Amino acid sequence: MAWWWVRMLLALCLASWLLPAGAQPVRLGVLAWLGEDRAAAQWAPLLDALASRLPAHSLHARYLDLDAMDTAVARGELDFVITNPGHYVALEARHGVSRIATQQIAAGHDSAHAVAATVIVPATDSTRRRLADLRDARLAMVTPQAFGGYQVIWGELKRAGVDPETGALTLRPTGYPMTRVVDALRAGQADAGVLRACLLEALQRAGQVRPGEFRVLSPQHNAGEPCQRSSPIYPGWAFAAAHDTPPALSRAVLLALLALPDTDDVTRWGVPADYHPVHDMLRELQIPPYDFLRQHRLENQVRRYWPWAAGVLALLLAWLAYTVRVEALVQRRTRELSAALTARDQLAERVHAHQREMDHLSRLSVLGELSGSLAHELNQPLATIGNYARSLKRRQAKGQLDAAALIRAADEIASESERAAGVLAGIREFARKRARVREPHALATLTEQSLSLFRGMLAHAPAITWQCSAEAAEAQVLADPLQIQQVLLNLLKNACDAQQAAGREQMPIVVSLQRDGARLALAVRDHGNGLDLEAQGRLFEPFFTTKPDGLGLGLSICKTIAEAHGGELSADTPADGPGLCLWLRLPCLENPPA
Ligand code: ADP
Repeated sequence: MAWWWVRMLLALCLASWLLPAGAQPVRLGVLAWLGEDRAAAQWAPLLDALASRLPAHSLHARYLDLDAMDTAVARGELDFVITNPGHYVALEARHGVSRIATQQIAAGHDSAHAVAATVIVPATDSTRRRLADLRDARLAMVTPQAFGGYQVIWGELKRAGVDPETGALTLRPTGYPMTRVVDALRAGQADAGVLRACLLEALQRAGQVRPGEFRVLSPQHNAGEPCQRSSPIYPGWAFAAAHDTPPALSRAVLLALLALPDTDDVTRWGVPADYHPVHDMLRELQIPPYDFLRQHRLENQVRRYWPWAAGVLALLLAWLAYTVRVEALVQRRTRELSAALTARDQLAERVHAHQREMDHLSRLSVLGELSGSLAHELNQPLATIGNYARSLKRRQAKGQLDAAALIRAADEIASESERAAGVLAGIREFARKRARVREPHALATLTEQSLSLFRGMLAHAPAITWQCSAEAAEAQVLADPLQIQQVLLNLLKNACDAQQAAGREQMPIVVSLQRDGARLALAVRDHGNGLDLEAQGRLFEPFFTTKPDGLGLGLSICKTIAEAHGGELSADTPADGPGLCLWLRLPCLENPPA
């Protein structure tokens, strides 16, 4: 405890010895961009000169960064601050500091026009002439917080439509000293660089930059100005008093500042400048002290437009709900539809299978109906063969068998057996169960084959007159040959039955083929009793029959076959006399495959 008192006493004695009696302390805060040491070295001449002009005061300088100075002013720890224009404006707005003097660049220059910036590009870059040409460029500058080293140019860039905040160009901070910006340009790390106005000229004078090495963008050089620049000129640094600094002290310091010697190493100070241009620029950039505008802008927009936004949101939600519902519906319907299609395909396949079965049965039924005659037809060659065999035996027994007779008999036996085999082969082919086909066939040929099969199957087939027009002779249809034969056999069999019922078996059945536009028309005309119109209307109905043992399926199946070939089956009464004419019309294959 005793030591503490001794130390306090010693300190007081020292202070009273070093300072004039009653010296009033002056607490000064200086913005230190580049650290305390460099700031102290930079500002020492000014502070020394100031101290010598304020003998009744003791000057205490503190070198502070932006935040520290802000805190110190807020706590009332400073009487005066020396800071850049942007920061001064912020301190003025937040803590009520007020400038008492503004820095001057040179003697005679007014203090309102001290800070400007220059944007330079290598002279070899011929594409960039204006700030607007910096779109997509890399821009070197000391730091985004530098007022004269960046922010004054930021304002200009924004006005030129190349705001770095929107990504129109890329910033490349180099840090201090500002000559690093020049280095970055020379190293190709940036396309353009920001310098404080007059630095370019100073570097040229010092021989660090060759004349003509760089070009200034959007030069705003007025006659009589010593330096080129790309921005307007703003007031210089401010010497400002805290809001509770005694006016007498402010006055004393101001007088001392204005009375400072006009030497190169001491900063010159003039009357306080109008900082409105700085306010305007910072407001435009919405940076401190106007950073609240960014927030306000959003809040205002929300407050102003929320009913619209809510409406749009509600519409969006409704649309979304509607879309989801429609999508779900579409998916459900699609599932139902594909299930229905599958069921339909299965049904169609079943119908086809039944159809095939019916075709087969119908062919068998035609065969059944013709079988009596068939037996007779086969009987003939068999009887002939038997006769020849017996005659050969008899001749042999009588010793009259010569070689010529033997050969003639053997030839007859062979030809008769071939005839029988031919009839059987045709029937077997006709009765065969098989899948449908579609092949190009000449309808005339199919008809002729059917006629000969019919004649072969029927013992006493009536005479059949076959007429084929020249243009129909070669014409082809896309058809299943067996099905077409089946239709023809049915028509011929019905024609035969009709003529028999009418007792006109000796009359010929007339089969004719001709072209009918894009189709081929095959007619089977008989001389039976024909049918009245009512019966003709029902002719193709399944199970319509007038025969005691008839099934009534033949014509309905024939009609199905005709339609499956893209054609039709119809009936009419011939103009010349009794009977019925049945027409099979099939589309003609216009370009038959070679
Ligand atoms: P089915 O011969 O078993 O009766 P179809 O379907 O072949 O079956 O014939 C149906 C009916 O049509 C026959 O019963 C007959 O009354 C009538 N019909 C068919 N062709 C002729 C024809 N050329 N002349 C008169 N009537 C016919």
